[in-house]
Amino acid sequence: MSITDWKSGGREQSWRALTENTHWDIVIAGGGVTGAGVAREAARRGLRVLLVDRQDFSWGTSSRSSKMVHGGLRYIAQGDVRTTLHSVKERERLMKEAPGLVDLMPYMMPHYDGRFPGRFAFGMLLKVYDLLARRKYHTFHGADSVRERYPFLNPDGLTGASEFADAVTDDSRLVMRILHEARRDGAEVLNYVAVDRTEQNADGVTISLRDTVGGASCKVTASVLVNATGVWVNELREQLGQSADVRPARGSHIVIPAERLPVDVSFTILHPQDQRPIFVYPWEGRTVIGTTDLDHPKPDNGEVGITRREMDYLLALAAFQFPEAGIQEKDVISSWAGVRPLVASGAKNSSKESRDHTVWKDGRVVSVSGGKLTTFRLIALDVLKEARDELPECEVDKKAPVFTITDPAIASLASEQMAHRLAGFYGRDAAEIIGTAKAHGGAEDLEPIPGTHTCWAELRWQAASEAVVHLDDLMLRRSRLGLLLKNGGLDLLPDLKERLQPMLGWSDEHWAAEVERYRRLWSQFYSLPSVQSEQAAKTSEGEIA
Ligand SMILES: Cc1cc2nc3c(=O)[nH]c(=O)nc-3n(C[C@H](O)[C@H](O)[C@H](O)COP(=O)(O)OP(=O)(O)OC[C@H]3O[C@@H](n4cnc5c(N)ncnc54)[C@H](O)[C@@H]3O)c2cc1C
Repeated sequence: MSITDWKSGGREQSWRALTENTHWDIVIAGGGVTGAGVAREAARRGLRVLLVDRQDFSWGTSSRSSKMVHGGLRYIAQGDVRTTLHSVKERERLMKEAPGLVDLMPYMMPHYDGRFPGRFAFGMLLKVYDLLARRKYHTFHGADSVRERYPFLNPDGLTGASEFADAVTDDSRLVMRILHEARRDGAEVLNYVAVDRTEQNADGVTISLRDTVGGASCKVTASVLVNATGVWVNELREQLGQSADVRPARGSHIVIPAERLPVDVSFTILHPQDQRPIFVYPWEGRTVIGTTDLDHPKPDNGEVGITRREMDYLLALAAFQFPEAGIQEKDVISSWAGVRPLVASGAKNSSKESRDHTVWKDGRVVSVSGGKLTTFRLIALDVLKEARDELPECEVDKKAPVFTITDPAIASLASEQMAHRLAGFYGRDAAEIIGTAKAHGGAEDLEPIPGTHTCWAELRWQAASEAVVHLDDLMLRRSRLGLLLKNGGLDLLPDLKERLQPMLGWSDEHWAAEVERYRRLWSQFYSLPSVQSEQAAKTSEGEIA
């Protein structure tokens, strides 16, 4: 079990643990899904593992994806069946290992007279997709039944719809669950600690760490440094005189009330402007529309948000495909934007670049970038394979499950839906979360907060036990209330203060400062386009394509 302390007030002890244990087998820079996966796989092999993120866990791309755990139909269409096969297998494995966290989501591709894709060609693609999964998911619905089921769908020329399946998750919770598993096997895991500098010699890597909250710094050594810093991968590689041609690509999503566009499947719609697939899907009690795909300037360590052009593009899709619903900007509850690293090939549009990951080995530093949420385990195994010379114990076990089994008894402790969710999101901690709720808050602590699927018992647990440093950690990543509630959930904050302030250990002044920071952050980057979100995207020259 890890000794770094995720309880409130535990950062000091964590920092001490870090400075007292100065040599590590592996230090991992980056607490997104890639770094988390490496920590999980390395810790289970008994290695001494330290993972740090200079922001919050999953703060980078891993809290800003479309949240789909998917095989990648597009790869089959491009003739890359191998990549699809790997992703489909991982999807099936994750649904089996972590139900409640990774669940099946039906998809629907409507077909129109004279428009791409045609029913038969698409049906062939889906047959191959199902063959790879060794399960039959796909089916065809005639136009009448589609119109009846979805009266708000554009009916002009509709000839039917193909239904198929992939899976959906909460990306931040996925990262947290992997990190909890890594900690159980002894990994030390800290947010708001940056890897500032690295130097290597024959015996190891010397790494300068900085507490980005308190400002303290220290040096540690490691046999191997894993640079899992996503779109920022070149920052550390450049210190070694290396760099890769990484092409940052931004994608944005908008969230609207489910009542305004009640979808129970993920509609896959080709945007009339450029034929790019856009998803309109149910997530956490809301409807999400996304993503855009644009070249983005070299990202700094700051936030990104949706731009006016992206907002108009996504609303144009809604108006085209769901004209009856009349979705407008005033319906938008929130938005989010993320930047992914594509290893550049020189393709004209960022959407044509490969989504695969790349691993580079520079002496004792193994860097990794690109890839998907879905394949985080395979990426981790690839990274550890590269570290085998320095760490022979790294022998890879391809079969070991990522997630430990949740106690089945919790199924009887809450409503079926809530037990399913808590088991998936919190694994072995779910029983304690429910137990604490029953002891303190009573049954209503296990009821969803209106407009979301989140319950107070989760928030209590997150505030008390999940290394929350800022209010935005809690509102945007541990929970997603900031994306799901109107006004970023600001109206809920007085209630939140009353219930959670004691366990966060924050004074009234501290609370007020956090509320101000969160209010500013949300309105600038998680709401409608703002001066700041336009500024962050300013030197972007790519087209939405
Ligand atoms: C719009 C969009 C939609 C997507 N949708 C999907 C999807 O539906 N399904 C899917 O499978 N994939 C999807 N992806 C891809 C997926 O989100 C990414 O591949 C994945 O999240 C990358 O994770 P990562 O850990 O490599 O990077 P990140 O999550 O970006 O993590 C890197 C971390 O490194 C930290 N860091 C940087 N520098 C330092 C330093 N010096 N010291 C310490 N820490 C540092 C950062 O703070 C950051 O938290 C999507 C991507 C985008 C942009």
